[in-house]
Amino acid sequence: MKAVTFQALHTPLAFETLPDPVPGEGELVVKVGRCGICGSDLHMTEDAAYGCEHGDVLGHEFAGEVVALGKGTEGLKAGDLVSVIPLRSCGQCEHCRKGEVQWCEAFGLQGGGYAEYAVTRPNQCVKLPQDLSLADGAIIEPLAVALHGVNLSGIRKGDKVLVLGAGPIGLATAFWARRAGAAKVAVQDIADSQQQRALDMGADVFVVDPADPVGSAERALGGKADIVFECVGIPGLIEQAVKQLRNRGTILLLGLCTRPDTFNSFAMLQKEVRLVTSAFFTRQEYEAALEALAEGAIEPRLLVTDTIALDAVPEVFESLKRRTSQCKVLIAP
Ligand SMILES: [Zn+2]
Ligand SMILES: [Zn+2]
Repeated sequence: MKAVTFQALHTPLAFETLPDPVPGEGELVVKVGRCGICGSDLHMTEDAAYGCEHGDVLGHEFAGEVVALGKGTEGLKAGDLVSVIPLRSCGQCEHCRKGEVQWCEAFGLQGGGYAEYAVTRPNQCVKLPQDLSLADGAIIEPLAVALHGVNLSGIRKGDKVLVLGAGPIGLATAFWARRAGAAKVAVQDIADSQQQRALDMGADVFVVDPADPVGSAERALGGKADIVFECVGIPGLIEQAVKQLRNRGTILLLGLCTRPDTFNSFAMLQKEVRLVTSAFFTRQEYEAALEALAEGAIEPRLLVTDTIALDAVPEVFESLKRRTSQCKVLIAP
């Protein structure tokens, strides 16, 4: 099969031919239909913290068709279209039964989507209803990540919400915050390339003012935010968020920052800030994201700006490391 593989840190990915995968016991093979390129994939090739190894196939946002099943796989058959939950888990323990698979003893991250075929397990597959496309199946993962953050934030009807960062997770957060009944949703970034997309996905206002991020957001929201969603992951934004927040407001961290960050806890303490972190999602949230698409929500589909062939991935991947006007790029292997 054709696949795109990790070579080394700070080195472009390689397009190459690998052996076709054969499913082992309890495994199945999915013919990848669409796979999203995620910001964390970009980070994986630049930051040793992610532990990528030579020859790894990245890609955790994918959907496709079941084409081969190993022994001991029940509930699925060849031809089924599935979205793959990229969280490896045993499927049996208490955490798995609750849908909180990230705390399963067997937890691990599933990649493999930058290829014609990927191996996974039945408990990670969610069947796509007939009216959902494989492209829909590939955007469920980032939608679920954002939904988990919004659920953990304790958002209430009438809240003023500020989203820092207009990448796919920030925009999906604006979408869910709007659905949760926020009175006002502002998305703030340092560039205006996603302005229209943010407004189309649920934001009331888009803020770009790197010289005065605090004042500009406050004017846009008509006051301090009840919740600030940090969806960027660079040092300094927690400190900024504290200034943008009302007393007893919530900062919800969705951005993945692998570097140490500093902030003044005195400023936080004075406001009695609640700092909440969010990682991954529950199985129920994954299904809820799928359900929102199946019920006809069109906004999340606006995330997708490009669909590219597998052999174009190494070049496009490098270009995405610089700021472009693209949002979610899907691979069609
Ligand atoms: Zn992702
Ligand atoms: Zn488990």
